Amino acid sequence: MGKIIIGNWKMNKGGADGIALLKKIVQEATTSCKVIICPPYTILREVVDLIQKKQSSILAGAQDCSAFVQGAHTGEVSVGILSDIGVTHVLIGHSERRQMGEGASQIHAKLKAALEGGVHPVLCVGESAKDYAQGLTNKVLEKELTECLGNLPVQFIAYEPLWAIGSGKTPSWAEIGRIHDFIKAKVQSLTGYKPKVLYGGSVTPMNSAEILALETVDGVLVGGASLEAESFLKIGKNA
Ligand code: PEP
Repeated sequence: MGKIIIGNWKMNKGGADGIALLKKIVQEATTSCKVIICPPYTILREVVDLIQKKQSSILAGAQDCSAFVQGAHTGEVSVGILSDIGVTHVLIGHSERRQMGEGASQIHAKLKAALEGGVHPVLCVGESAKDYAQGLTNKVLEKELTECLGNLPVQFIAYEPLWAIGSGKTPSWAEIGRIHDFIKAKVQSLTGYKPKVLYGGSVTPMNSAEILALETVDGVLVGGASLEAESFLKIGKNA
């Protein structure tokens, strides 16, 4: 498998604008990498249909899922609903959700639900600016991985330093390399599997070639730069 590029549209492009963006990406994507687009729930079905109609290798992912299988959970979307419409991946534990109060036990339950429902979870982990400044990155990651994973065989981890998301800042390439090695070793000791580790946080067409060239980087998770076809496609080409 080549490198993995995930576009996280967050709470943007949830209607005709999202479908127009996807059409451009599908039309021009020529990469050998695995591309996963995570739009808002509102257009997930249409995204899957378009991808299938165009026989594109792009995959559809969700930005979150419920820990519950079904029932009285107003506003929640279950893994079963996602997989029924053709969604193959789901982001879990994104820092923006953690800031809204999502904790490790909830994240663990969502990871378990995704695995049991046959949708690949992508667990997001990362340290705050304060933790980074105090040299606590590994400690924070170890805690997050241990508490969220337990021994669940999650294959995809996104390392997203909170201070790098949407800030234009990134760790040095050497730091990313070291931290990805640390995450791989930790996850392997917890689950027995060596995961794919993606880097996320201010990835742009300008820095993506260097980041993706790092051996321990299996892909990138892109927020802001995934909202324009041109910048997202350029990141794909750099893979
Ligand atoms: C993100 O929030 O997952 C992200 C990587 O955002 P950005 O690329 O905008 O930093």
